[in-house]
Amino acid sequence: MAEDLMNKLIALCKRRGIVFQSSEIYGGISSCWDYGPLGAEIKRNIKDYWWKTMTQFRSDVEGLDSAILMHPKIWEASGHLEHFIDPMVECKKCHQRFKLEDVEGSNCPNCGGEFTEARQFNLMFKTHIGPVEDSSSEIWLRPETAQGIYVNFLNVLSPSRQKIPFGIAQIGKAFRNEITPGNFIFRTREFEQMEMQYFVHPKEADKWLEYWKEQRLKWYDEIGIRSGKLRMHQHGEDELAHYAVSAFDIEYEFPFGWKEVEGIHNRGDFDLTQHTEFSDKKLTYYDDETKERFIPYIIETSGGIDRTVLVTLVDAYEEEPERVVLKLHPRIAPVKAGIFPLVNRDGMPEIAMKITESMKYDFRVFFDKGGAVGRRYRRQDEAGTPYSLTVDSQTLEDETVTIRERDTMEQIRVKIDNLKVKLELLMDNYKRDKGFSVVDEKLFHEGIKQLRE
Ligand code: ATP
Repeated sequence: MAEDLMNKLIALCKRRGIVFQSSEIYGGISSCWDYGPLGAEIKRNIKDYWWKTMTQFRSDVEGLDSAILMHPKIWEASGHLEHFIDPMVECKKCHQRFKLEDVEGSNCPNCGGEFTEARQFNLMFKTHIGPVEDSSSEIWLRPETAQGIYVNFLNVLSPSRQKIPFGIAQIGKAFRNEITPGNFIFRTREFEQMEMQYFVHPKEADKWLEYWKEQRLKWYDEIGIRSGKLRMHQHGEDELAHYAVSAFDIEYEFPFGWKEVEGIHNRGDFDLTQHTEFSDKKLTYYDDETKERFIPYIIETSGGIDRTVLVTLVDAYEEEPERVVLKLHPRIAPVKAGIFPLVNRDGMPEIAMKITESMKYDFRVFFDKGGAVGRRYRRQDEAGTPYSLTVDSQTLEDETVTIRERDTMEQIRVKIDNLKVKLELLMDNYKRDKGFSVVDEKLFHEGIKQLRE
């Protein structure tokens, strides 16, 4: 069942240009995926909403965009050279490799062959900087964006004039040479992270950890993820990473089980202490009021964008007798409205095109005049488009169009004026499967003009 659902979702993603295998015409490359027209929009919407809520909506978090290639000493200081390793075994017969922790027994689950001795495998991709490929030019592709934040602590602190507590947020690519990638875009070797590191007084670390746990769960709710499908998992002593004082994972119930989507960690003073030691630069904070100098503790929220894309898709996917529908939240939906002339004559396409032109600066809309309108609706359902606007013969008489809601397939008729505001109102109030009942009807039909004036 679970596999079946994932296969259907992967097929939908391919069919609709959401996600497809990288380098496909060459037979593909394992665990690398490309985002097509709709997928690129979904991914961008997730990033934009995270960035807005982290930086624009708050005054205590600054943005950063640091380089992927960094000084190799960073990975010594961070512990990645020493700790970022998985013991791995290889089947002597079919040569498939497995993470030691994933295998049961001493024989290959594929062919029954014998395993080699376990060997340590560093998950960081190594390359060389400059033309000479010797050990002095070795560098790594970053396996997380967080280190770029720690090493820039002072560079951000001083020009931004922030006071503790404050945070630094970053979105960017990370690379891990995972031994067993899989489950579509859940675990890949190249992926994108959205990470925020919040610098606090050590005494306040517990309080801020609780705060960020709450904020992050709320964020998933705001992008439409059903709350019953999310849970918070606390790491036990044996699960804690080398840097962590305490750690929680936000987990989602995927078809293949409950899995981490985002980590929320109290990292203590580990990172700034390590980088102070290795760089010889004092990464401390001076509090003007208390005259106290200290190394801040760090609360981190570390999420994966590709994994969040998968969560939104899995969560939104529904099969109904007559259609497949992606019930994506309008914030995440790649296209906000389909705009259709009912038939291709009597000036209907021209009106629909005019509406499209008037809305395109505010939302991504899609004009479609091809085929039966029912089929056009279905295509938009599958793409997750929350609303469809149709110009019909009544439009020619009274300047109204129909709006069809994706989840309930309910339709209402509204005046053409202020369509943009009406759509905004609908999207702002969207609740899954609730249709038009969530908007105040009076406000919607009559009051909008006054509201705007
Ligand atoms: P896992 O235990 O799943 O390997 P992790 O605990 O190593 O994950 P973190 O280092 O905490 O993960 O990374 C933070 C976030 O980055 C994860 O919650 C996930 O969303 C994302 N992430 C990490 N590794 C991958 C990957 N290989 N592919 C896609 N996303 C990833």
